[in-house]
Amino acid sequence: MKEAMFYKKVMGKKVKCELCPRFCMIQNGKRGFCGVRENREGKLYSLVYGLPVSVAVDPIEKKPLFHFAPGTKTLSLATVGCNLRCKFCQNFEISQEYGEIHGNEMLPEDIIELAKKYGVEGISYTYTEPTVFYEYALDIMKLARKEGLYNMWVSNGYTNPEPARTISKYLDAINVDLKGNDDFYRKMCGGLGMEPVQKSLKTYKENGVWIEVTNLIIPTFNDSEEEIGKLVDWVLRNLGKETPLHFSAFFPQYKVTEISPTPVSVLENAVKIARGKGMKWVYAGNVLGNKYESTYCWKCETPLIKRVGFSVQSIEDKCPKCGEKIDLEGMKWVR
Ligand code: SF4
Repeated sequence: MKEAMFYKKVMGKKVKCELCPRFCMIQNGKRGFCGVRENREGKLYSLVYGLPVSVAVDPIEKKPLFHFAPGTKTLSLATVGCNLRCKFCQNFEISQEYGEIHGNEMLPEDIIELAKKYGVEGISYTYTEPTVFYEYALDIMKLARKEGLYNMWVSNGYTNPEPARTISKYLDAINVDLKGNDDFYRKMCGGLGMEPVQKSLKTYKENGVWIEVTNLIIPTFNDSEEEIGKLVDWVLRNLGKETPLHFSAFFPQYKVTEISPTPVSVLENAVKIARGKGMKWVYAGNVLGNKYESTYCWKCETPLIKRVGFSVQSIEDKCPKCGEKIDLEGMKWVR
């Protein structure tokens, strides 16, 4: 447990959490919407500090990050809790229905030791929403930076601009889910719309964090060409054509079991729409062996990075045919 950052006392012992766009007003003895920040006598505490519920080594391609430190391994961790309620959550056992707060006691120093033991190049704050374990993530990130490890988040983007700015000092890369339009966030995620995500994405961009965006396409909910086109237009206008964009296939899970998996043709069509609008690096995810898992030169279609699933088979940093450079970051971590 650790005193939280980004909160204010408002009246008596009541506090207002300003970490995420929910701005929870929390009475003494109560917790915020995320379930892991509690008001004790007028002080807000993170209850999940030093309590990771999940720790594993993953390829960075699994996050997915395709243009940052390709082929490297990353120590991935999460605590319980989330500030959204996505009905299709892949990790609902630890983000939503985890019962009592639990985890294995591991201080930031212990995480760094584990990262060294496994010989990974970086640390990922992932599986659940890192915003809700912000203080823990930040302390690990400071140590990781000193040790020459990279830090990356997989986030839903529900982080207010000030905490997003603060974390950016230690954040090398981020993959943010841009899930759909306002209606989608309200109906499918118990959210407040897409604007908070757009705001945090802009903040990360302004602060020099390498950004990749993922859009999970769920049939009948956010799969229309019009919606996909709008999402692409926003990314193009605000983040730039060099931003890798991952269209990911949905599979029935958690509370969305009556919808069929995303047809491969829908994903491939989304890739074509985005490329047609000028996005340089567009991918199809969750479809093992698909052509669009790999990177092709956006000018002449020559294969540049070959991937099968999360495994990188070969990397070119510029096109051998036309000489076009590929946008790649974090190459100092690639051995
Ligand atoms: S981080 Fe948690 S407590 Fe703070 S505003 Fe968001 S949901 Fe509420």
